[in-house]
Amino acid sequence: TQQKARGGFDTVKSEEVFTEAKTLMPGGVSSPVRAFKSVGGNPVVFDRVKGANAWDVDGNEYIDYVGTWGPAIIGHADDTVLKALNEQMLKGTSFGAPCALENELAKMVIDAVPSVEMVRFTNSGTEACMGMLRLVRAFTKRDVVIKFEGCYHGHGDAFLVQAGSGVATLGLPDSPGVPKGATTSTLCAQYNNLESVEELLKENEVAAVILEPVVGNSGFIPPTKEFLEGLRELTTKYGALLVFDEVMTGFRIAYGGAQEYFGVTPDVTTMGKVIGGGLPVGAYGGRKDIMEMVAPAGPMYQAGTLSGNPLAMTAGIETLKRLKEPGSYEYLDKITSKLINGILDAARENGHEVCGGHISGMFGFFFCEGPVTCFADATKSDTEKFAKWHRMMLKKGIYLAPSQYEAGFTSLAHTEEDIEKTIAAAKEELSSTA
Ligand code: PLP
Repeated sequence: TQQKARGGFDTVKSEEVFTEAKTLMPGGVSSPVRAFKSVGGNPVVFDRVKGANAWDVDGNEYIDYVGTWGPAIIGHADDTVLKALNEQMLKGTSFGAPCALENELAKMVIDAVPSVEMVRFTNSGTEACMGMLRLVRAFTKRDVVIKFEGCYHGHGDAFLVQAGSGVATLGLPDSPGVPKGATTSTLCAQYNNLESVEELLKENEVAAVILEPVVGNSGFIPPTKEFLEGLRELTTKYGALLVFDEVMTGFRIAYGGAQEYFGVTPDVTTMGKVIGGGLPVGAYGGRKDIMEMVAPAGPMYQAGTLSGNPLAMTAGIETLKRLKEPGSYEYLDKITSKLINGILDAARENGHEVCGGHISGMFGFFFCEGPVTCFADATKSDTEKFAKWHRMMLKKGIYLAPSQYEAGFTSLAHTEEDIEKTIAAAKEELSSTA
């Protein structure tokens, strides 16, 4: 690696840039988890990315398992995507008027995702979730929604209740500035626990049950199939809508997302990350009768100056085309299985208690005995050990999500050799900290 060629791991330039950044932007970042708060030390500052790799401003090279938090599923800066973007750029970067590329991406999403008959594009997953929330309330004429402890649905006020991930990392159960009234209609249930959901459904007029169909924002926590099937039955029984927030899982764990993978079809789905191929995109979609509530087809207002812009649509289209090629998800499954099993074996051989797993190209593990089936279980993980592990792996050129409460991601650009190098680094690190 570059680190060896340059005679060690130094981060002088990263430190310089980040020190200045802290004087210019709160915490030096544009999004909290990037600041490495939960693992300590300063983050490295990226200079460029390509394929499965990232390089920081000091020239250190990393195998990247964050993948810009999920979007880089075909690899960073893919040549086909870049070529299409270059061609589109010459025709303009934003129209603020209908463009045919929106139809193209909409058709791809509708064809792929079982619950989606119509779709509205936004610029982020947060916006998609905020639109979805207004939609489910407008459609059902009910206010109360049920979410799950440790699930993150963007930073909209109503969702900042036991929201996992960045919030968990900072140790804030909620955020100041969210008015009480904004969260009084948000109820929290326990993941993988149907009884906790039915209790709330019985006692309240619930508009929707909203969840990450595979949790990535409390670390990686898969659902049981019975849990998802049970939610489908319960929501139907109590007249509530079922919403899968597939911002992370959409086009990641299967081309048709978690709903295809588990064979459970929600009423409404939110998406983001992968469908923008590295540019800012979100989307919400669902049954036609529900989606026709959205303005200007219907009365529920939601809008966006840059929504559906031609560059973002182009990156999304090219990314989905590549993913649709035969063998994509089999490959992601194969390398990610090898990766997580290699890490778990290395940890256990060295006497660490760990549990973890993966679905396709999404993975995670906890430094605790397990099983981890909900957020409360995840908090039993040894976060100090995780922080040490993170710092050591970084020095060895392995870039992992800087929090125990985040999932990891592989891409089509990760090679078997990358995985072997990562496991070798894990073995070394885990034996030295046993
Ligand atoms: N929903 C889920 C499941 C997410 O994982 C995220 C982001 O990580 C969001 C919503 C918010 O998306 P964005 O960060 O694009 O606003």
